[in-house]
Formats: sequence, C-alpha cells, structure tokens
Amino acid sequence: MTRTADVVIVGGGVTGASIAYHLAQRGVRKILVLERKFLGAGGTGRSVGIVRQLYPTPETTQMVLRSLKIFQSFGDAVGGHAGYTGCGVLIGVSPSMRPQLEKTLTLQQALGVRARVLGLPTLRWSMVASTRPDSAPSCTSPNRAMAIPSA
Ligand SMILES: Cc1cc2nc3c(=O)[nH]c(=O)nc-3n(C[C@H](O)[C@H](O)[C@H](O)COP(=O)(O)OP(=O)(O)OC[C@H]3O[C@@H](n4cnc5c(N)ncnc54)[C@H](O)[C@@H]3O)c2cc1C
Repeated sequence: MTRTADVVIVGGGVTGASIAYHLAQRGVRKILVLERKFLGAGGTGRSVGIVRQLYPTPETTQMVLRSLKIFQSFGDAVGGHAGYTGCGVLIGVSPSMRPQLEKTLTLQQALGVRARVLGLPTLRWSMVASTRPDSAPSCTSPNRAMAIPSA
C-alpha cells in the first residue's frame, strides 16, 4: 500500500471517488482513498441509481447538471460503463407542495434543467401508472435517468 500521499481521502463512496477523480483531472498524482470496508460500502452501494435533478438551490442544480454530463459521457470521461439509461423520471408530490415545486422548477429551468409540472390529465395521457392518483401535481424531467451506483 502507498505509504505517502499528497492527498488522503477518507471514504470510498461516490463523494470520495469523485474528489479523487477531480483531483486526478487537475494533475494530482499521489491520491490515497482510505475505505474501512470496501468501495461503495455505504449509501453509494445501496443507492437505487436514480439520476435525478430536482434540487432546491442554484448550487445543487449546477452540480447535478455537471454530473449529468459526466453520466452521459461516462466512457470517455471516466472509463467503463455506468449503466446510464435516459428514461426520464416522474416525481409525484402532494397538492400542498405545488407552490414550492413550481418555485423550484422556475429556478432550475432558468439554469438549464429540462423539467415541467404535469397535471393529472396529462399524466393520464402519458400512461403513467401511479399508485397514488391523488398525488398530482407531478414533475417530469426527460433528462433524468437511471445508472449503476457502483460504476
Ligand atoms: C437506500 C438508498 C437509496 C438511495 N438512492 C439514491 C438515488 O436513487 N439517487 C441518488 O442520487 N442518491 C440516492 N441515495 C443517496 C446516495 O446514495 C448518497 O447520497 C451517496 O451515496 C452518499 O455518498 P457518500 O460518498 O457521501 O457516502 P457513502 O456512500 O456512505 O460513503 C462513505 C464511505 O466512507 C466509509 N467510511 C466511513 N467512515 C470511515 C472511516 N473512519 N475510515 C474509512 N472509511 C470510512 C464508509 O464505509 C463508506 O463506504 C440513496 C441512499 C440510500 C441509502
């Protein structure tokens, strides 16, 4: 095992792996990732792999837009296969959450997120099977996707 390093990262989840990746991209060579169990042992390995984009702040929105580009070009950017499938994501919320949802989407759309609010009639036309038909309005984003968390 490497005994010296320029950077030591504790935790081999997606955060640690991403920090290592971006440091390497910037030319740092001696990076040591310390993981107490195995890579992806924490939440990363348990994730169901939804690449969603509904986040409430400009900062997190810009982060997910950047990460989306990485997922879409994973082979070139990182190497290997992330299992990225651009299937879109439908998120259902209670009617009381509609104002906050619309506020968030307005912010996100201005930053480039492709998402919009759907009402129940559109949902029915979209042939989306919902276990909670009273859960409208929903938000749909064609840029959301599924991927393999451990990639
Ligand atoms: C069931 C579930 C489903 C999820 N689904 C999604 C989803 O669909 N989409 C999505 O975007 N997010 C999802 N998430 C959230 C996402 O998985 C986490 O936000 C993300 O994986 C966190 O990554 P992390 O690297 O910060 O933490 P972790 O993946 O938890 O990594 C931390 C690592 O640090 C290690 N560690 C801790 N302490 C030490 C130590 N002292 N020394 C050495 N190593 C240490 C742990 O073993 C672990 O491997 C889900 C989470 C769960 C639990």
